[in-house]
Amino acid sequence: MAKSQHLQTSIDSEAVGKSPTHLDPTDWAAFRQDAHAMLDDVISHIASVRENPLWRPQPEENRAHFRQPLPEAPRELGDVLSDVRDHIMPYATGNLHPRFMGWVHGGGTPVGMVAEMVAAGLNMNCGGRDHVGIDVEKQVARWMSEALGYDADAAGGLFVTGSSMANFLAVTIAKTKAIGVESRASGLRAADHQLVAYTSAEAHGCIAQAMQLSGIGSSNLRLVAVDADGRMMMSHLKMMIERDRAEGFLPFLVVGTAGTVNTGAIDPLNEIADIAAAENLWFHVDGAIGALAVLSQELRPRFAGIERSQSIALDFHKWGQVPYDAGFLLVRDQADQKQTFAQPAAYLQRSTRGLAAGDTWPCDLGPDLSRGFRALKTWMTLSTHGTQKIGAAIANSCAVARYLEARIAAHPLFELKAPVALNIVCFAITGRNSAYTREIVLDLHEEGVAAPSWTTIDGELAIRCALVNHRTTEADMDIFIDALVRAVQRRPE
Ligand SMILES: *Cc1c(COP(=O)(O)O)cnc(C)c1O
Repeated sequence: MAKSQHLQTSIDSEAVGKSPTHLDPTDWAAFRQDAHAMLDDVISHIASVRENPLWRPQPEENRAHFRQPLPEAPRELGDVLSDVRDHIMPYATGNLHPRFMGWVHGGGTPVGMVAEMVAAGLNMNCGGRDHVGIDVEKQVARWMSEALGYDADAAGGLFVTGSSMANFLAVTIAKTKAIGVESRASGLRAADHQLVAYTSAEAHGCIAQAMQLSGIGSSNLRLVAVDADGRMMMSHLKMMIERDRAEGFLPFLVVGTAGTVNTGAIDPLNEIADIAAAENLWFHVDGAIGALAVLSQELRPRFAGIERSQSIALDFHKWGQVPYDAGFLLVRDQADQKQTFAQPAAYLQRSTRGLAAGDTWPCDLGPDLSRGFRALKTWMTLSTHGTQKIGAAIANSCAVARYLEARIAAHPLFELKAPVALNIVCFAITGRNSAYTREIVLDLHEEGVAAPSWTTIDGELAIRCALVNHRTTEADMDIFIDALVRAVQRRPE
């Protein structure tokens, strides 16, 4: 203690001077001015999102701006910021806009934007060591355990880029659990039998990719048929497991989906949990879209059984409205996660005090070593708005989806293509084929008023609207339908 006080009093920072190659501003006052102006512009960008086109195609000159040689010489920050204003901000994805309904994109919030700025300023490496970033991430993990029904003292949580990565980690953990920690060294030879996993035919493509990347192979992922509501059929799952066992395969994992990407269907999670328990399978839930809906008291009962899973992938950047990227993996027993990923590297050795303190670091729970402070924007979003308000925004997305469903059902030009389980509405233009429908969707994108995407249902292209943005209202759906009708009238068959 005495020593550090001595250090503090004896260091004269002026006298120490500056590195000749430092990258800090030489004029802090000028920097502040530039930075404040930029911050103002970003705030205006968010505040005026309704007044601007949802999306605009990038002119060729603009693309050319990003095909320049390596910049050897410095430029004034003000000039670089002008480039950002002129060449980047106008050509963003569009997902801030309330009528962006393509794919499943979150809308972000101003609070999340400020959080990203603070996180960048602090520039923490959240791979490990003893600092507050690790505690904030643990706090979010405890909150998710509480919300999703896990024991917060036993569970492990980890921020990753997105649910694609979270699902991949879950497959890897399930594999290591099934065939033993020695498989980390010996690979799949540790298994006496060929591993097989199960998910529904409506599962996201990243589950098959996770099987590829984990070395098990996507042909060892069994796609279980779904019912008319897009939910995994339990009778089929049981039959497939039975047949695989009879043929000498080793079933190890079942992945249920809480909100499918095509139609928002929720698999029967309780029944999957029963089968997983009886068959000794790891039960993972892909909750990329739906898991956070448990924050709505109204929607929560529909996810019953999620608390019986071994792991859950979820995306704060979708319905959580946290800015990209903020994927998350929650694992019921952190020990399983640690056994899969922890490495005994000498330079990562722990101590009981100092910066190297701490038993479990995030780098023990996944493959990333250096990691940013994704937890801050999530902690700030949840802290500022509270889970009730976020839950209400999620429930509102579903109400807006039902409103759109009713308008489509009542409209002579359109027909619904799938039941609306949650927040996704799929419909067709009556009597028109896939090629025509695709052109109409692209016309809408280019007009910049509303942006749905598409999917294939029963072999035909369907217009797909995913309601995720907290800014979207029923009136937006009226504007969307008007724009759609105009687009159809403009384009002959
Ligand atoms: C979006 C999505 C994913 C992939 O998540 P990313 O965050 O985009 O990596 C996986 N599963 C479902 C159901 C999704 O909707």
